[in-house]
Amino acid sequence: MEDLLLIPGPTQVPPEVRAAVSRQMINHRGPSFTELYQEIQEGLRPVFGSEADVLIFPASGTGVMESAVVNLFSPGDRILSVVMGEFGERFAVIAQAFGVEVDRLSVPPGTAATAEAIALRLDAAGPERYRAVIVTHNETSTGVLLDLPAVAAAVKARGPLLVVDAVSALGGVETRCAEWGVDVLVTGSQKALMTPPGLGLVYVSPSAWEAVERATLPRYYWDYRRARKSAAKGQTPYTPAVGLWFGLREALRLIGAEGLDNVYARHRRMAGSFRAGARALGLELLAEDAVASPLVTAVKVPEGIEASRILKALREEHRVIVAGGQGDLAGKIFRVAHMGAARPEQMVRVLEAIGRVLAGLGVAVAPGAGAEAARRFSEDAAAVRA
Ligand SMILES: *Cc1c(COP(=O)(O)O)cnc(C)c1O
Repeated sequence: MEDLLLIPGPTQVPPEVRAAVSRQMINHRGPSFTELYQEIQEGLRPVFGSEADVLIFPASGTGVMESAVVNLFSPGDRILSVVMGEFGERFAVIAQAFGVEVDRLSVPPGTAATAEAIALRLDAAGPERYRAVIVTHNETSTGVLLDLPAVAAAVKARGPLLVVDAVSALGGVETRCAEWGVDVLVTGSQKALMTPPGLGLVYVSPSAWEAVERATLPRYYWDYRRARKSAAKGQTPYTPAVGLWFGLREALRLIGAEGLDNVYARHRRMAGSFRAGARALGLELLAEDAVASPLVTAVKVPEGIEASRILKALREEHRVIVAGGQGDLAGKIFRVAHMGAARPEQMVRVLEAIGRVLAGLGVAVAPGAGAEAARRFSEDAAAVRA
């Protein structure tokens, strides 16, 4: 049996994408690259919900988060960072590192910031106070999804730019950058886009381009203006990660073949069946259903059991790889991703394994109850669709 990788990135890479990544290199200044560039941009349009070309850097997600900061802001600018967990906090700290003044709107782990709360905060601050609001679409550390269309409407009505960390969201949950009024949205290749790590992707709106022109923070590698100039020729300013571009093209083909709406529905179905199964095992979930992420679920570690023992037993006895908690949640939760190429059947396997591990650690539980509930959930969902 192969390892079953269910961490929130890097996610499972389908065989077609793995094969594509291993192809011979091409001249990145020649016509074959331009063709690859165009095919990828076409594949990305429905996923980003925008007709604009997306900037693509060789980078991790954190790299393109930093790119947004250095391209949009000037020293002393003030922004509002919405913090729902570790990744929201990371974006705030990156901005501070560059001399941007950051106010935080923080919510308890497992809850979502609301459009109303953000609107109240902006109204109390007055219209000119914030250059931008930064949010996390899918807070991977807690398994919470932000209501991005509502938040975007609230921010747009009040003037600041809206910057979105969609590293773990894009490709797994509906995203309409142009229609919703997102200004900058950053993501990475290794989560819902089911490509190996190493590509950072950035959407930039027309208003954000104006901000890019005005901003005075120093930048070179990340300079969106240079990237845009090269994009007009179907190129990137510096050597692109060509192998990963091959992989991404294949991943976008797979997404297109499955159908984007079906991809989103599969993510919701996996989340639903995993949540049903975890509850059938008597486990508590960190996020309530109303704000639960379709991409990753955080499970509370039962009283009296060490999280590390659960992860170790899952890995060693069942070859199932899931993630622990980050920051203050370390030891308190474990996280199971249902993201990218993950399949509903895999939810049954992970719950089967969790049931056995809990029983092995002395928890009074019917070990098969989780897998059974997940199976039933999937069948019911299939019956509803039929
Ligand atoms: C994974 C992740 C990141 C960081 O991406 P890296 O590629 O590890 O730098 C940032 N934000 C969110 C929401 C993520 O899930």
